Amino acid sequence: MAAPLARIDRMESLLTADAEGLRKAASEDLAAAREAVASFKALPADASSETLLSAWDAVGRPLNRSGGLVHLFFQVHPDEKVRGACAEIEQELSRFHTELSLDREVFARLEGADPSTLSDPVARRLLEHELRDFRRSGVDRDDATRERVIALREKLVELGQAFSRNIASDVREIVLDSVADLDGLPDDYIAAHPPGDDGKIHVTTNPPDATPFMQFCSRREHRRALHLVMSQRATPDNLPVLDELIATRHELAGLLGYTSWAHYITEDKMIKTPERAAEFIAKVRELTGARMEQEIDEIWQALKAECPEAERVRDFDRLYFREKIKRAKFDFDVRDVRPYLPYDAVRDGVLDTVSKLYGVQIRKATEIATWHADVEAYEIHDDGKLLARFFLDMHPRPDKFKHAAMFDLVSGLRSASGTGDTVPRAALACNMPQPTESDPALLDPDQLSTYFHEVGHLMHHLLAGDHRWLGVSGIATEWDFVEVPSQLFEEWGRDPALLAGFTRHHESGEPIPADLVTRMNAAEDYGKGIVTRAQMYYASLSLECFRRDPATLDTSALVAELKPQFVPMPVEEGSCFQAAFGHLEGYSALYYTYMWSLVLAKDIFSAFEGDLMNTDIARRYRDAVLGPGGSKDAEELVADFLGRPSSFEAFEAWLAA
Ligand SMILES: [Zn+2]
Repeated sequence: MAAPLARIDRMESLLTADAEGLRKAASEDLAAAREAVASFKALPADASSETLLSAWDAVGRPLNRSGGLVHLFFQVHPDEKVRGACAEIEQELSRFHTELSLDREVFARLEGADPSTLSDPVARRLLEHELRDFRRSGVDRDDATRERVIALREKLVELGQAFSRNIASDVREIVLDSVADLDGLPDDYIAAHPPGDDGKIHVTTNPPDATPFMQFCSRREHRRALHLVMSQRATPDNLPVLDELIATRHELAGLLGYTSWAHYITEDKMIKTPERAAEFIAKVRELTGARMEQEIDEIWQALKAECPEAERVRDFDRLYFREKIKRAKFDFDVRDVRPYLPYDAVRDGVLDTVSKLYGVQIRKATEIATWHADVEAYEIHDDGKLLARFFLDMHPRPDKFKHAAMFDLVSGLRSASGTGDTVPRAALACNMPQPTESDPALLDPDQLSTYFHEVGHLMHHLLAGDHRWLGVSGIATEWDFVEVPSQLFEEWGRDPALLAGFTRHHESGEPIPADLVTRMNAAEDYGKGIVTRAQMYYASLSLECFRRDPATLDTSALVAELKPQFVPMPVEEGSCFQAAFGHLEGYSALYYTYMWSLVLAKDIFSAFEGDLMNTDIARRYRDAVLGPGGSKDAEELVADFLGRPSSFEAFEAWLAA
């Protein structure tokens, strides 16, 4: 049977809209949302709880049409006018949300709903969460407090921007006398760093400059010099900004009734309390001890052989010796893998894997026009029914977002009548090489892994789109669970049999040999003891900065106190790591989430028992973990799938392997 042609509805027509068209659509949607707020407030006093909650959930629906697209276009649209219009629309939307979150009339009506009269457990949970979020915004505080809350939130936006700006704008460099000082670096790096007019070679702290330097430069004193300037970025400017950021968050948390910012920010996450976050960090610390010591010893032996005068392993030895030991141990070079990974083969292979795993059909929807000729539209059908649409914007362009991310555009909704359902939509925005007539666009193993990672996010949003309530549709789950489906799906990109099914050498057409994949995986995993310990040091620093009393907190003393608990490399004299630790702004106390999701992903992966294409297990995973979206606590979703509470066992086995 031929797949039905896509119905081009309002959302798809916006994919090609210009700045004016988007402004018009967004203002219609915002007006409809304001009307929905008015209708909610106008409900009769004796309206049932079901009616109240439905009317409240309806407030977000008009913005579900264009809001996600505006957010995406602000980041990726080729037309500067469109990006500008989207920036303005985003500000307007954000003002609307802030106003709404502090609207006492709305809160009072919603608080009047009686959860015990709601028969649907999802509705009861949604009501509870909506009220919690209102309280967390400060809506139930007196006027003076609410005013102070607004002022503090505004101040936090400014401080956050200043903190990030100081990091982004502070590029430092070291100056080297001759090409001999670049010993060990690849030829293309040396060619790209010729001596300047002053006859000297300049190496900056920008990652494309600094990362290869720290990995390959054999001159220890130069690695040391670069490491030192890297760890002095954003000093001294960011130290007072950081102190103020910490103090302001602490004050805000106090006004809202919390002991500390860490208490406030963990409350609605899986982890729930800073005490549990600290326990998690301590537990991972303990599990990684033996592994890290073994790796440090390997580095120490290699260091002594190369620099007999060295006294101990320091931070600037870590990447260099990791690369060196890896090459010697696994005889692995990424350049051997790339020829097997032409872009088109990887894309088709990843989508085919999804299609087989979940028993769905994926077709390219060439009839849907989008914001750029390079963007591809797809549809997912399940049993002949349109399940979702997605868009792949995978190649770099000037003025496009520089990272890799999934953007949810529309959350799926099921109408009570079964007609007028909304299918979910999402887009991936990445920066992978683009194939041309003469260039097959070969990916490296990191990009292969990123492809699987982002498609993991994509399928989470799209398969969680069958809900009656907008508030639980899509990835409406706890923040510290979000990276679980994506990190889990990375495992599919490491499986030799699966990769043999879709990779092909761009010249010979041969699939990638299994032993090359095995060496690639081993090389990628090498050093995980030290990496995990370092992650836990950052997690601990992030937590303690926002858990302790800012009145007596000295962030440099905190670094000196915490680092030795996790890694044996000393704090370098003159370094100031925290000043350029950007996550202290965006993640605040929540840096632990990376490892937390990895522990859960390893646990879920263990249930597949190596049988990655087992469609029965995949079906259970889809139904128990992805499909429910935000309708249950993530902890419960995981336990539903595993048939037991989650555990560290699989993570421990991975560490030991
Ligand atoms: Zn991710």
